[in-house]
Amino acid sequence: MLQKLKFFLIFLIPVITVYAQEQYLTEKSEDPEKTYTSQKTYEVKEFPNQFKKDKPRNIILLIGDGMGVTQVFAALTANKGRLFIENCKYIGFSKTSSGDNYITDSAAGGTALAAGVKTYNGAIGVDMNKNPVKTILEEASGKGLSTGLVSSSAITHATPASFISHQASRSSYEDIATDFLKTDIDVFIGGGLDHFSKRKDGRNLVDELKNKGYQVETEMSKINTVKKGKLAGLIAGVHPGRISERGDMLPVATETALNILDNNKIGFFLMVEGSQIDWAGHAGSTVYVVEDMLDFDKVVGKALEFAANDKETLVIVTADHETGGMAITGGSIEKGVVQGAFPTGGHTPVMVPIFSYGPGAEEFIGIMENTDVHAKMKKLLFNNK
Ligand code: MG
Ligand code: ZN
Repeated sequence: MLQKLKFFLIFLIPVITVYAQEQYLTEKSEDPEKTYTSQKTYEVKEFPNQFKKDKPRNIILLIGDGMGVTQVFAALTANKGRLFIENCKYIGFSKTSSGDNYITDSAAGGTALAAGVKTYNGAIGVDMNKNPVKTILEEASGKGLSTGLVSSSAITHATPASFISHQASRSSYEDIATDFLKTDIDVFIGGGLDHFSKRKDGRNLVDELKNKGYQVETEMSKINTVKKGKLAGLIAGVHPGRISERGDMLPVATETALNILDNNKIGFFLMVEGSQIDWAGHAGSTVYVVEDMLDFDKVVGKALEFAANDKETLVIVTADHETGGMAITGGSIEKGVVQGAFPTGGHTPVMVPIFSYGPGAEEFIGIMENTDVHAKMKKLLFNNK
């Protein structure tokens, strides 16, 4: 009898387990944002690791806002096992705590990467005492390099703002916009037109940008034709929409910026942000995370393609922090299916990955502070300049 029961149980347990998993699948699929199912995948090219020198002439810093290792693996699964990011053979981790908090926000996280200081949450390009700190973009500009910022949020939002502005608070959007005119930035593309043109102080910064020699455009179809000179691309009043609305704006804007910046033979610094990976984590939406991660990986592809041809460009792919504490609870690489779960609607303090490709990439291995990323970039970019 006991033997029979044992046999019965051995047979039954896998059946129950499979049933439980299937049950779980149907439960999850009731919320359409929880499970991503691949519609179409894209081809991932392999780029050779052969470069001209051991120090870069140009740096492209790609920030996935809120991008932890799980977000990367969610995208890898969704694209059925391949990502452009995999071309980066040097991998490290960044510790993201801010000057006043175990868990950083994007302003302090951006300022650490841009200016190399740990500051309080909410600070844009200023230290703990609210004193301005020179950013790598400003320093590059001062040394005759070209500079650019591209984002899928308002260009005045915390992450891009940290590279060009100095404000005590990230919510001072109109003051942040004003700071764009205090620099010689060559190209910036994102949303935020209202912060330049519908202002409390009555100034029209679009006119002021034009007077400074900028071509100001509000449509991607115009922006993507610009090959030289100074360009301000402001494609939304505040933030560009989700992928369904903004399409391939971010990869196209990245390519446009690279075309313009490449005219300067001294070199350039470009920061591109996949802004909405963070918002997807806040929303607890797996679909939104994957959509924006795949978009960001295509940006990585554009940067790597440029760097592989140029052979003097360092590409660094990292994040300011992780958002949502994202976990993957099930899925399939064959089918491109990802089931995500989010224990928090906020940021988390976990280390975030650093992937790098190009001359100097070997500097970005191991575990480091986010401020070290800045120090290493600075050392490599301004060597002999
Ligand atoms: Mg951001
Ligand atoms: Zn956030």
